[in-house]
Amino acid sequence: SPEVKLAVFGRAGVGKSALVVRFLTRRFIWEYDPTLESTYRHQANIDDEVVTMEILDTAGQEDIQQKEGHMRWGDGFILVYDITDRGSFEEVAPIRTLLEEVKKPKNVPLVLVANKSDLEHIRQVSTEEGERLASEMACAFYECSACADASGGVAEAFHELCREVRRR
Ligand code: GDP
Ligand code: MG
Repeated sequence: SPEVKLAVFGRAGVGKSALVVRFLTRRFIWEYDPTLESTYRHQANIDDEVVTMEILDTAGQEDIQQKEGHMRWGDGFILVYDITDRGSFEEVAPIRTLLEEVKKPKNVPLVLVANKSDLEHIRQVSTEEGERLASEMACAFYECSACADASGGVAEAFHELCREVRRR
């Protein structure tokens, strides 16, 4: 069966590990070692095809060489920011720029995920801003929460990224 390598990028603390764990276990883990980098294997049936995903949960504090190594490794990328942390939103475009450089001349399958939508009361980045950034990057956009029940968007983001990779 086809294998796709997916890497999750974003500033430390945006919820990369929580999203990956939610996707894999449907559970939420409150505390997760922020310095830990892990890879997971996961099989899913996507559009009647069994796809094996290898998922790299990056630590978010790598130096540039490590980042580029992860980018060369991956077929598709989940770029995550936290709606309560504007700085994390501003870090997305530079990650995308580096991806384009590393992967050139290919165009890079990616999805944009706005996490922590349960924290509406301390939101710093509007949904419209997220949508605009996704449309600039020509990718799908999901606003979701790793900890809320309404976390359907999390699986949808991973599956859509697999489809994007398989289309190329
Ligand atoms: P990472 O550094 O990007 O891997 O972030 P973590 O997954 O370790 O999460 C950082 C912190 O944010 C932890 O305290 C998590 O419990 C919290 N967190 C992650 N996702 C969410 C979410 O969707 N909502 C809320 N309220 N907290 C979250
Ligand atoms: Mg983490």
